[in-house]
Amino acid sequence: MRYISTRGQAPETGFAEACLAGLAPDGGLYVPKEWPRIEPARPGEPYAEVAARIISAFAGASIPPQDVLQICRDAYAGFAHQSVAPLTQWGPDSWLMELHHGPTLAFKDIAMQLIAKLYDYLLARSGAKLTIVCATSGDTGGAAAAAFAGARQARLVILHPEGRVSPVQRLFMTTTGAANILNIATDRDFDDAQAIVKQMFADKDFAQTVSLSGVNSINWARVAAQSVYYATSQAQLRGAPIRYVVPSGNMGDALAGYVAARCGLLTGGFEAVCAVNENDALARLFNTGRMTRQAAVATPSPAMDISVPSNFERILYEVTGRDAVAVRNTYAAYAQSGDAPLPEGAPARLGCSGLSAATINNAETLAEMERFRAETGWLICPHTAVGTALARRLPAKDAVTVVLATAAASKFPETVLEATGQDAPLPVRSQALRARGEVFERVPSDFAAVRARVLDFAR
Ligand SMILES: *Cc1c(COP(=O)(O)O)cnc(C)c1O
Repeated sequence: MRYISTRGQAPETGFAEACLAGLAPDGGLYVPKEWPRIEPARPGEPYAEVAARIISAFAGASIPPQDVLQICRDAYAGFAHQSVAPLTQWGPDSWLMELHHGPTLAFKDIAMQLIAKLYDYLLARSGAKLTIVCATSGDTGGAAAAAFAGARQARLVILHPEGRVSPVQRLFMTTTGAANILNIATDRDFDDAQAIVKQMFADKDFAQTVSLSGVNSINWARVAAQSVYYATSQAQLRGAPIRYVVPSGNMGDALAGYVAARCGLLTGGFEAVCAVNENDALARLFNTGRMTRQAAVATPSPAMDISVPSNFERILYEVTGRDAVAVRNTYAAYAQSGDAPLPEGAPARLGCSGLSAATINNAETLAEMERFRAETGWLICPHTAVGTALARRLPAKDAVTVVLATAAASKFPETVLEATGQDAPLPVRSQALRARGEVFERVPSDFAAVRARVLDFAR
């Protein structure tokens, strides 16, 4: 199995290289050269076994299948639910797919647990060590810390904007006690922290010295790992046509559904509606056929406060018939002026892709959290509420609706209290966090200062 870049100017590469690199050297995103055909999941087939079949298909001959199976079993052994991604019913023909049973209570665990094990395996084979950096606005940092704590071949540096992630989110990043993790609190906002990470990758000397790598949501292994729960949900619903509603930011999750469909894992057809908050770049894109830039605003669903949905590039590549020149020109125009029309014909093909997007505002989100509680007795997180609010608005259709529940309510207790008047205590297995000491360092939000600290850490 070979991987190519959406911008067409990077050499073809293998699965391991594509995963470890993250972004392709031409600035594009890696995709498989051909979509593999994968047998749909069988009802009752254990999650780790479905994951192993799917990852093996994407890895091709590069990893023996029995090793992939072991990696997947290790990755999902620590989940609090046997089926990893259970479906629960919340209305006639309406289900939640609960993706928050991992160690940090958000769906990012599902991919991150797998790639940490995969990285250790691949790096041990080559004897290499990596320094992974990530800037986080909340969930990614915690999921990465939980997954990479104690990794043998990788060290992890997390940058979070001090005071701008929720207290629970911070605890998940800062209490692992692992010596291979450096937690940096910066004194400006997330975009600033993100800019520092970009500078680190652009500084080729530095990047080479510390063997820099990333685990953000454009990483192909994350997309592949996320396609697994689409396959298992299709099996649990016995092949019925499903309309997925996907709370979206960078669009990695919705893209994974598209990938599952392309590989034959969704036997009932494919429809996924991206539910976005007031940061509605995706909805504007789908509904106007133009990519337009607008600064991100703060909302009750911070993990979706994204102004540039980076995984859309892979969808654009597909709906232009894999035209790398068209993708390159579109992103060049967008980088220049913050406004670019999609290439000719792309909006129409996008309309037939099964994907669409719509927005839910802040007031609707909070009202939905309370309505959901009143109807079902369950508390949902604000991201999930963006999805269920949108699901209620969609026209009736001969399909079941599956809303992806992307985090547990207890990860956002302040918002839950505001919306519903209820406390959302952490599950028992996470309560020990509060007793552990937090370890993080304050470094000014300045490239030279962060660079110096990371160099020292990687030594
Ligand atoms: C990351 C995240 C999302 C958005 O997922 P994308 O793959 O970026 O679209 C939604 N909800 C929660 C809780 C998240 O952590």
